[in-house]
Amino acid sequence: MSFGSQIAWDDTILPFQLDRSDIRGRVARLDGVLDRVLAQHDYPPVIESLVAEMALLTALIGQTVKLRWKLSLQLHGNGPVRLIATDYFGPSAEGEPAQIRAYAGYDAERLGTDGDIFGQIGKGHFAILIDQGMGTTPYQGITPIAGGSLSACAETYFAQSEQIPTRFTLSHGRSTLPGGAKHWRAGGVMLQHMPKASPFAKEAGGESRPVAVHDLLDDEPEENWNRVNILLDTVEDLELIGPTVQPTDLLVRLFHEEVPRVFDGQTVNFGCTCSADRVRQSLSIYSAKDIGHLTTDEGIVTADCQFCGAHYEFDPKSVGFEAEKAVDGGD
Ligand SMILES: [Zn+2]
Repeated sequence: MSFGSQIAWDDTILPFQLDRSDIRGRVARLDGVLDRVLAQHDYPPVIESLVAEMALLTALIGQTVKLRWKLSLQLHGNGPVRLIATDYFGPSAEGEPAQIRAYAGYDAERLGTDGDIFGQIGKGHFAILIDQGMGTTPYQGITPIAGGSLSACAETYFAQSEQIPTRFTLSHGRSTLPGGAKHWRAGGVMLQHMPKASPFAKEAGGESRPVAVHDLLDDEPEENWNRVNILLDTVEDLELIGPTVQPTDLLVRLFHEEVPRVFDGQTVNFGCTCSADRVRQSLSIYSAKDIGHLTTDEGIVTADCQFCGAHYEFDPKSVGFEAEKAVDGGD
């Protein structure tokens, strides 16, 4: 299998629309960016899998939002996996790449190895955060962890919080390149029923049952939605992941009768936006005690970026440590 010849389609999100119905979607492929994201950490395979899938989900969802700054996905659990956090930074200008970064928080001793990867998260919640930058109020939507997969969590979020029928089919895997290096690939398809087709969305949810697609769509759109989903059910992992099947060919294979139309693709890079100023700012909300834990014997406050591992050192005064200590001493 050759990876080099297909480089134009790797680390790309391809938006598409199905003209026969009011369904839009994205095909995302991540490979080099995933290698870079995971190379920042030394995670066990279970965690790498979750981070890879979450990064793919973030790319699919992030590209649907007109972003001036970033969209974040977070999964908070009470199991051995406490947190999976990913950020997608929209392109700074048309034609520029978007950027993705990710990290995980977990208890290594409690991690299971029985293959139930999603079960390691336990109970908790799935959150989508949209931050449009300085001077704006961040948006946050939360839904309980449900459905036994990251895809199901995101589908539930869109059904309940946005009233938009949404479907994700994701796959990922790691191959060994000639020479022995490991190489990640992930690929997925997102389908969404366009809101304009369901202006008469029936009373969603109600009682205690989760929102189902037929709560959100009338008969004809629901038929379209079901037909397209059945087509997507036929997709195979290797078609999703590539690189032998190009995203455009995948759309034709799956949806040729639905008249797929593609738009300009969005390239994605690994990228971290951390800086001394941002880290200093985040430290400024810590208590004197917490800052004390981050202070070396030499009296230097240290902090590492959880996303990229960058190491920062500060004079305690510059992060407000001395001032807080003085206040404590005055009690
Ligand atoms: Zn960083």
